[in-house]
Amino acid sequence: MEHTGRHAWRTAEAKCSSRRTLLTGAVASAMVVGFDSLGGRWVSAAEAAGCPSFDDVPPLDGMLHLDSATRQEDAADNGNIIERMPCAVLRPGSVADIAKMIRYCRAHGIKVATRGQAHSTYGQGLVNGLLIENRSLSTIHSIGADSADVDAGVLWQELLLAAYEHGLTPPVLTRYTGLSVGGTLSVGGIGVRNAHGAQIDQVRELEVVTGDGRVQRCSQRRKSQLFEAMLGGLGQCGVITRARVGLVPAKPMARSYVLSYSDNTTFFRDMRTLLSWGELDGVFGLWAPQATSLVYQLNAVAFFDPSAPPDNDYLLRGLSQPPITAVTTDAGYLDWAQQVDRMLAQARLALNWDELVKPWFAVWLDDHAIEHYVSDLVPSLTAADVGPGGQLMLLPQRRSSLTQPFLRVPAGTPWVYLFNVLTTSAQPGPDPAFADTMLARNRRWFDQARDVGGTQYPIGSLEFDHADWAAQYGDLWPRFRRRKRRHDPDRILTPGPGIF
Ligand SMILES: Cc1cc2nc3c(=O)[nH]c(=O)nc-3n(C[C@H](O)[C@H](O)[C@H](O)COP(=O)(O)OP(=O)(O)OC[C@H]3O[C@@H](n4cnc5c(N)ncnc54)[C@H](O)[C@@H]3O)c2cc1C
Repeated sequence: MEHTGRHAWRTAEAKCSSRRTLLTGAVASAMVVGFDSLGGRWVSAAEAAGCPSFDDVPPLDGMLHLDSATRQEDAADNGNIIERMPCAVLRPGSVADIAKMIRYCRAHGIKVATRGQAHSTYGQGLVNGLLIENRSLSTIHSIGADSADVDAGVLWQELLLAAYEHGLTPPVLTRYTGLSVGGTLSVGGIGVRNAHGAQIDQVRELEVVTGDGRVQRCSQRRKSQLFEAMLGGLGQCGVITRARVGLVPAKPMARSYVLSYSDNTTFFRDMRTLLSWGELDGVFGLWAPQATSLVYQLNAVAFFDPSAPPDNDYLLRGLSQPPITAVTTDAGYLDWAQQVDRMLAQARLALNWDELVKPWFAVWLDDHAIEHYVSDLVPSLTAADVGPGGQLMLLPQRRSSLTQPFLRVPAGTPWVYLFNVLTTSAQPGPDPAFADTMLARNRRWFDQARDVGGTQYPIGSLEFDHADWAAQYGDLWPRFRRRKRRHDPDRILTPGPGIF
């Protein structure tokens, strides 16, 4: 992996926080709140809350924040259900900072978690110990002919724009691209493309700081067990600091098709027909509210050069309705890729979206189970189950393209489906009563899914105990435990999901 490149750039934010000259000591802004008469010294707010003093941390290139305001900013995630106040927030100025602080925390028995964009919804990235802000390291180091070398704090939308200048794109993009590279590589990163796998299937190499404080490079060929444990590994074995991710040529235009259905069986039959042709660049399902029900929307996209536009009649052949009934929209590739980013920007303004409670539900089901599951669940939904800023989504994936074992998906059929109910509350939170109701609902839905072979996609809000995690990993559970023991021997990393 190259460490310098023609395309290197930094955000202003990272520039500010990474200069050694900003620091005389390693610790910034520890507010003194009282005198400890037993210890005979003044103590900070963090110490008063039972946190260690961090007064002997090694010199850092970046900043370690102990003040309440910074810690409070990182105490919640996008779900607004769980709050966990970190004792300290590290804005690293270098990978060495992360390694030093992990070694420090290991020596002092302090738990550590990494924060990407905190778009998880149930405390997955929260911690009462040290929180590492990924975003401080967000350089795109280089863009080559078929890959990019990026820091884990880079957002996919930043890579999308930089790569497009070279006529390239990441092959798999999440629908919302304001997520961090490190965050989605830790969970999976599923897009609307059906046969390219998840974002974790497109990674060539990683740089990782493991739970023993070592900086390590890994890939399919080198330290492959660590590589495997990091991709979709929920931050259990290390902190991803840098990644080389695949890029492919980008076509300049995207044609979107939307077909509407009121009937579950016909929707699935037509979706399977399009998937079986394998000619569209993406096929997925959404639901739109209409009067008292939800209308099924079969969505598809074809990327193209203006000189060779897609043949709608051919691509949409064999469906229950003629191709002419599809609502068809052409857009530039970047406009298409950032469609959800724009919608979310509007929702942030109009609904105060970031502050809404989001008890999200996300589950994988195989081709035998999905149709029946959806036909039972969708008609049972109330307006509160979706909410004003919510959405339902179905992302089909060719099973053989999902190659990373720690992304747990059912194994039995050639196609698997990620089904999401992305609920929001009607009002900004916190709202514990609403959260409790929805958590009970999610658990009920999950149990029904698990009965038919489903697994959770662990970005949502699901109460999951140790036995649930063991069942989720199934025959891979002993392997995951071995990797954890090896790379994070004192179990300090990412306690949020409660796996170990
Ligand atoms: C609006 C919206 C749309 C979304 N759309 C999609 C979608 O289309 N497809 C999809 O797959 N997902 C989607 N998601 C879910 C998303 O992929 C996950 O929530 C993802 O974790 C978010 O990335 P993040 O940068 O916010 O990560 P965070 O939520 O900050 O982190 C996720 C987990 O990974 C850990 N982590 C973060 N960075 C690192 C690192 N560098 N090293 C090790 N561990 C780390 C954290 O501690 C945490 O446990 C969406 C979420 C939102 C809010």
